[in-house]
Amino acid sequence: MSRVAKIDENIYCPNCGKHEHQVKHGKNKSGSQKYRCNDCNIDYTPEPRPWQYSEEVREQAIKTYYSGVSGRRVGILNNFSKSNVYNWIKKRNK
Ligand SMILES: [Zn+2]
Repeated sequence: MSRVAKIDENIYCPNCGKHEHQVKHGKNKSGSQKYRCNDCNIDYTPEPRPWQYSEEVREQAIKTYYSGVSGRRVGILNNFSKSNVYNWIKKRNK
């Protein structure tokens, strides 16, 4: 049995940027998984990244938004934050 717990492949230390030596380190108040970098000895909560959503999901969200649904509502319907929706729309309008 391995003593090293597998961690999510998207976990990188915000300080040194390493993927190695990252370990799970409890949860924060809102219940999100926290991690610790054993190189820097810092604890952090990985940020959910908007670009992890697929192109399809983003397109659908943007379409819904332009059909007259508020950004907040689009977020609720699709289970992501409204700031994601606004970011995608901003990017798209560039
Ligand atoms: Zn680090």
